[in-house]
Amino acid sequence: MKLPIRLRLTAVYFAVFFVVIAVLELGAYYSVREAMHSIVDHELETRLAGLDDHLTRHIKRFPWPVLRDSIQLHPAFQPDFLWMRAADGHVMFQGAALHSLRIPAFDQAAPIAGRMPNVAKPQVDTFNWGGRTLRVLYLQRTIQGNQYQLALATDLGLPGAVLNKMWLWMLLSVPIVLVVASTAAYWISGRALAPMTRIIATARSMDSTKLRERISVPNTGDEVQLLAETMNGMLTRIEDGFQQVRRFTADASHELRTPVAIVRAAAEIPLLRRSAPERVYREALERILRESERSSTLLEDLLLLSRADAGAEQIDQESIDLGKSLTQACAQLAPLVEQKGLRLHMRGPEQTLWIRGNQEHLRRLWLILLDNAFKYTTSGGAVEVSVGSSDGRTYCAVTDSGIGIAPGDLSRIFERFYRVDKARTRSHGGTGLGLAIAHEIAKLHDAAIEVESELGRGATFRVSFPSVVSAEKIPGAVRTAIAS
Ligand code: ADP
Repeated sequence: MKLPIRLRLTAVYFAVFFVVIAVLELGAYYSVREAMHSIVDHELETRLAGLDDHLTRHIKRFPWPVLRDSIQLHPAFQPDFLWMRAADGHVMFQGAALHSLRIPAFDQAAPIAGRMPNVAKPQVDTFNWGGRTLRVLYLQRTIQGNQYQLALATDLGLPGAVLNKMWLWMLLSVPIVLVVASTAAYWISGRALAPMTRIIATARSMDSTKLRERISVPNTGDEVQLLAETMNGMLTRIEDGFQQVRRFTADASHELRTPVAIVRAAAEIPLLRRSAPERVYREALERILRESERSSTLLEDLLLLSRADAGAEQIDQESIDLGKSLTQACAQLAPLVEQKGLRLHMRGPEQTLWIRGNQEHLRRLWLILLDNAFKYTTSGGAVEVSVGSSDGRTYCAVTDSGIGIAPGDLSRIFERFYRVDKARTRSHGGTGLGLAIAHEIAKLHDAAIEVESELGRGATFRVSFPSVVSAEKIPGAVRTAIAS
């Protein structure tokens, strides 16, 4: 398993801090060391210039012992740190601090008269002699026609001690800074991730009994807040879905209970009587048959809807003449029209309008719309079926002059088991599933179903399909799943 984000962030902070501190501290140390060396070197060069001047002016005028004493007594020349050798190899001046002087460049070839190793340009180096660290400037000089080797030195003891102390503090500060920075990083990342941890804890504790709970949204204005809001949106949708399923199950059970109770009562009544005339049995059986038919229709509807929800409904699609399909459905319901004393008009298009769809499902859709139109229109009323095309869509509309639908109910009539007047529609044989099924069938055909109505002024149901130019252009049978 990978490390938690908090630890990984801390590790990254640690590594970055380590590299940054190491680079900064090494940089600081070497800069200070360089600065010290350049100050010391400058001081050595100043001393050399003074000595140069002193020797040039006096080397011919005074014998060497006198001149040597004058140098010895001159504190500005720092005689303890001065060394001088003549071209014949004779050491003319030996400062106390330079008694063990060994400069490799001078030692390469012993200075013989007229032949000295060429160190004409001043060189500066750091040497460790006799337990001391010395910064030494050395060169070969020709003064008043004679060659000399000169070495001037400065004790680096004090600056070295300062540098060493600095180095020690730096070494000590690295772990301290790293511990402080890593602790701060751990704390900061913990605080930043705390809302995430809460979201995870809430999400983990969620189950179907706690769908009302919501994640507390941190007011951070960042991705964490967005995540919490998105998860809450998702929970709301899941809760809605659960509630729909619960409502659907409760409504379905309720709807099935009524016919079962009726069947039971119808069977019990004649059975309780010792001997009943044949008419009583016949009536009971007829009731049982009626309720069984009603139940099996209801079960088929429920099955279709749940298959649609699961995306499992597979249907074949083919090219369908919309006008013809509607005419056939009207013909099927003609006896009902006559029985209720209604007028039915069919307004067809001039040319054939093709749609792509499934014959059986479309027949079901038309029967639902027509049956409702007849059911909710009183005797003497009119129902008009029209077919046409506009705005690149092919549509059909069923308009009736019936009781109409109140604005408050219009948005809900496509819901499952929704009935405007429950007692009345049940007596009409309605289950409240017709329009829900119509809606699913329309969705399957990529069609839109809309309703316009005013209470007491009839209703118009309009289904519009994507237009298809001609039957030849329609691809053959296509299997489509009802989208949930
Ligand atoms: P039902 O099987 O009860 O008719 P539907 O889903 O087909 O169920 O219709 C839902 C409700 O919409 C009905 O109860 C009814 O009140 C209302 N409705 C449907 N069609 C019409 C219509 N043409 N005129 C008036 N009301 C209608």
